Amino acid sequence: MFMQRAALTAARRAAVPVARRTFATSLVRCEAPKDKDVPAPQYKTLSEIRSRDDLFGPGAPVGTVPTDLNQSTGIERLEILGKVEGVDIFDMRPLDASRKGTVAEPILVRSAGEEQFAGCTGFPADSHNVIWVGMTRDRPVDRCSECGNVYKMDYVGPEDDGHGHHDHHGYEEPKTFADYVKPEYH
Ligand SMILES: [Zn+2]
Repeated sequence: MFMQRAALTAARRAAVPVARRTFATSLVRCEAPKDKDVPAPQYKTLSEIRSRDDLFGPGAPVGTVPTDLNQSTGIERLEILGKVEGVDIFDMRPLDASRKGTVAEPILVRSAGEEQFAGCTGFPADSHNVIWVGMTRDRPVDRCSECGNVYKMDYVGPEDDGHGHHDHHGYEEPKTFADYVKPEYH
């Protein structure tokens, strides 16, 4: 019994220096460029972004592991640059759940695209399972079929460039019952 315990203790003692050495080695490798005084890579900040060509990272200094800030591109880079300055690029906040949307005062859903879906959980929030309501630029208002909450798309995307995106290859949205409601009932 004593022998077993002694062997275990010895093994533990032997293991610790090995583990330490491994850890220290990787730490040195990570810190090495700083010691050599490599200048931090320059990149464009959020306010300097003018076009998609500005959304390329500078890459990582030789011998280092690149970070997202070093190497991300495109809209991912835009999001990261925003986070650096505390700007929520994609507006990830939940929708207004302080009231129930009505036809006169709908809950606004910001959208940068032609189509937007919003998940309704009722009012108060989480009072029913998620029901997805769909809005388009042509038909911006939709109502939850479970609780009647009214949502309206608040389009914040680019202005129309005259290419007629609304009339893509003659596509027409399928008609719904709403299309046959007499105007006097609206
Ligand atoms: Zn609902």
